[in-house]
Amino acid sequence: MGECIFCKIVNKQIPSEIVYEDEHVCAFKDINPTAPVHILVVPKQHIESLNHLDNSHKELIGHIFVVAKELSDRFGVKEKGFRIVVNCGEDGGQTVNHLHFHLLGGRKFSWPAG
Ligand code: 5GP
Ligand code: ZN
Repeated sequence: MGECIFCKIVNKQIPSEIVYEDEHVCAFKDINPTAPVHILVVPKQHIESLNHLDNSHKELIGHIFVVAKELSDRFGVKEKGFRIVVNCGEDGGQTVNHLHFHLLGGRKFSWPAG
């Protein structure tokens, strides 16, 4: 975990634009946004990916979704709609191995995602 970039953001060892935090969760702006609103919501605890979840994480994951929904409201995309994405593993396109939920909004997204 010593080298994990999101742990460093959570611990304020490297700068980021944090938009929300509480005891369990931290949310910050993506450094390379792909939409007008692009926020990453992460557990403060280092969990590598969705593949590393177990029943002890149920409450945490539910909490993350509620935080993301509240942020969609605060950043003005709740009414028009938004997307939450979790990439998992190599084929899923995960590049940072600390579980994170992308909150994307402010433009229209296509489906199926490329
Ligand atoms: P993934 O591809 O793993 O689903 O998403 C990783 C995301 O983290 C990417 O959208 C990337 O732009 C973002 N990211 C990578 N490094 C940093 C960083 O140091 N700070 C911030 N704020 N975002 C980062
Ligand atoms: Zn981490």
